[in-house]
Amino acid sequence: MADHPYAGLAAALATQHGKQRAIAPPLTRRLGLIVRPVAIDTDQFGTFTGSIARSGTPREAALAKARAGMAASGLPLGLASEGSFGPHPWLPFGAGGVETLAFIDAGRGLELTLSAVSRRTNFAHHDVASGEDIAPFLARIGFPAHALVVRGPDGAVLASGVQDMAALAPLAWPGNRLETDMRAHLNPTRLAAIRSLAGRLAARLASPCPACGCPGWGQVDVMRGLPCSTCDQPTQSILAIIDGCTVCGHQQTRPRPDGVTAASPASCDWCNP
Ligand SMILES: [Zn+2]
Ligand SMILES: [Zn+2]
Repeated sequence: MADHPYAGLAAALATQHGKQRAIAPPLTRRLGLIVRPVAIDTDQFGTFTGSIARSGTPREAALAKARAGMAASGLPLGLASEGSFGPHPWLPFGAGGVETLAFIDAGRGLELTLSAVSRRTNFAHHDVASGEDIAPFLARIGFPAHALVVRGPDGAVLASGVQDMAALAPLAWPGNRLETDMRAHLNPTRLAAIRSLAGRLAARLASPCPACGCPGWGQVDVMRGLPCSTCDQPTQSILAIIDGCTVCGHQQTRPRPDGVTAASPASCDWCNP
C-alpha cells in the first residue's frame, strides 16, 4: 500500500449523511487514501422524500456530487455515492436498491463508477389503518435501527429521521403513511451495501492498467456469444469479460470467472426459438 499512487493523498467525499464510516475503511486500509468528508448540499441533487426531483442517471448524479465536493474542497480526488430504490423511474418495478459509488482523479482524467443492485433493501411503506397494529411492519423494516419518514394524507412530510416509539406514536394515525428513511446514516442496510461497494472500489483502484499504469483496471464490458452446448451456435449468454482502462482505453478479454464454456440449449435461438 505504501507504494500506491494514492497513499497519503486526500480525496473529498461529498456527503451530508455521514457515509465516511462506510466508505473510508477499505480505501484507507488498501490504498492509504485519506477520505475527507466535505459537507455539500447533496439535496440539491435530489432528495429521497421527493421535495426536490432528481435528474439524470445514478452514475451522472454520483459523478456530479463528487465534482461538487472537489470544487468545495479544492482537492483533485473526489468520491460520492448515490442510492436509488424501487419503485423508481431508474429501476424496473420492484428491483430493490441500487447503490452507485463514483471516484474521480482529475489529474489523471480517471472517472470510475461502480454499482451494485441489491434486493436486500428495507425500502417499503405502510398506510396506517384504523385500529391496526403497526408492529409487524416496524419489525420487517428493522425499526428503530432503521428510521422512518411519516407523511400526512396529502403526502406532506410530517417528520423524517423518526427513530423511537415516543416520536412515532403521536404520528402513527390512520391515513398517515410510514416510509423507510433511506438516508444512509439512518439506514444500516444501505451503509452495509455502500461498505461492500467501497471494498470493490478499493480493489479496483489497487489494480494498475497493464498499458499505462493508471489505477482502476477492471471490468468495463462483457462479450456475448457463449456457444450452445447442443448446436455450438453463439447465444446471448456471456462468453468473456472485457477488462479495460478508462484513461488510456487499453482493453483485454478474459474467460468467465465461473469457468462455464457452453450455454444451455434452452437459451439458444436455434434449439429453442
Ligand atoms: Zn491505461
Ligand atoms: Zn443450440
